[in-house]
Amino acid sequence: MRAQGLEKKSAPRLWHWSSWIGYAALAWSIVYGIVHLYWLLGGEGYPFIQEEMVMFSAMVTYLPAQAGSIAFVVLCSLGVFFGIAMHKAWGRVVPYWLIMTYAWGLAAVLLLFVPDSSLIMIMAYAFLFKFDFSWLIFNQIICIIGALLWIFAAVSYFRRVRQACTYCGRTENGKAFVLVRWGKWITYIAAFAPIPYACTRIVWAFGVAFGVDSQFFEVNPIAQITSLVFGGICIGGGLLTLGLIQKWGEVFPRWFPFVGGKRVPILLAVIPASIVAIAVTAAGVVFTFTFFAIQLQLMPAEGILLNDIWGTIGPMLLWIPWGTALGLAAISYYYRRRGRCKYCNGSEC
Ligand SMILES: [Zn+2]
Repeated sequence: MRAQGLEKKSAPRLWHWSSWIGYAALAWSIVYGIVHLYWLLGGEGYPFIQEEMVMFSAMVTYLPAQAGSIAFVVLCSLGVFFGIAMHKAWGRVVPYWLIMTYAWGLAAVLLLFVPDSSLIMIMAYAFLFKFDFSWLIFNQIICIIGALLWIFAAVSYFRRVRQACTYCGRTENGKAFVLVRWGKWITYIAAFAPIPYACTRIVWAFGVAFGVDSQFFEVNPIAQITSLVFGGICIGGGLLTLGLIQKWGEVFPRWFPFVGGKRVPILLAVIPASIVAIAVTAAGVVFTFTFFAIQLQLMPAEGILLNDIWGTIGPMLLWIPWGTALGLAAISYYYRRRGRCKYCNGSEC
């Protein structure tokens, strides 16, 4: 049945992402595997190292450099194998679930263990016109791109195996996507999860030591503007998130200059929401790990009194739910708003 599924649907047209995404994931694995082999053999520029903010380092930086390179050479070699198996006739002997497990597992590693909080920091500091970019951060972006290539390759493969439409993923007896039904609640979580963080930072900006010791500001002079801007971004972001379920998220309000009354392009909301979702989730992993590592005394609390941890890192415990919910809310928005498929004529129930 599965073999039939791969043959039955006609191959997608060349311009459509599902026709080339598998090859792109394969190419990424070849190139990134070779680069890690180069680092394993002593090449310069190994990117998974702890910078000055040791306390908030990415998970992968806890591995010794050699172990990190070996892990990535192995992961990328597997990627080359699975990447070819997805496209070749002999690849049908490779179990479907194994390919999917690899693709999603690799994506999880690349999204959760490689990036640290610097991506979201760069975005936040851009509002203050401060830019600080390095090879280590660029490498994190390369890994996120790799994760996205593998996720979309898995989706495309899933559709072929399921005999679904290659363009939209609908099957003949398709039901409304489960995320669409839960979209409203997921969006509320995504909009409100950053509020505790925003509140602490705004209160700090006015000199109130909320959640921290009264001496906290003497040890850690707070840049008022920075606190205020970061808190403001989160509240602004939360309001924009609500657009994913509001009328003004589908049609620009009439008073809006130039585009008032026009349809909001779907990707105008989906792309920024997804980028923020990835950066917030990745930072959330680092903050959550640090929070528990300090609580369990596995890590020294540099520059933070143990009593202050609830005010400083505590609100960031909501960042994993925030980022995850925002990503799911964006997907739900996409599925809710996309129209009838041009190829299979399918539409949402
Ligand atoms: Zn379709």
